[in-house]
Amino acid sequence: MASNCIFCRIAEKEVQARIIRENADLMAFYDLNPQAPTHVIIIPKKHIVCLAKAQAEDIELLGKLQYAAKEIAHELGIGEAFRLVLNNGHKAGQTVDHIHYHILGGRRLMWPPG
Ligand code: 5GP
Ligand code: ZN
Repeated sequence: MASNCIFCRIAEKEVQARIIRENADLMAFYDLNPQAPTHVIIIPKKHIVCLAKAQAEDIELLGKLQYAAKEIAHELGIGEAFRLVLNNGHKAGQTVDHIHYHILGGRRLMWPPG
């Protein structure tokens, strides 16, 4: 837990979010500023700054996040077409320094991204 981290504070329920799923390892909640009709953030409860800072001991946790993402996409009705985004580093668009995936769907998603 990093007390100055907004996603740790959501995981600790110090800050409210519209939670979709929670277990011992992870939490999924709706993004505050959605970029698609369905826009979910999925985080590990463990404070890992970004993928580049993840360690080998985090491999299982990263797999759990990705598997939960596909289950959540299915549950929210976007299982056939969704995008899983991980912004690593500020120059790649990361604004919250706690590793997270975006699950985006419910509209046509263009490629390449901006
Ligand atoms: P990043 O730009 O780091 O990849 O994504 C951070 C995401 O977290 C953004 O899409 C932003 O809207 C979302 N976000 C930031 N603060 C909060 C918050 O307090 N609550 C929720 N639900 N989402 C947040
Ligand atoms: Zn954190």
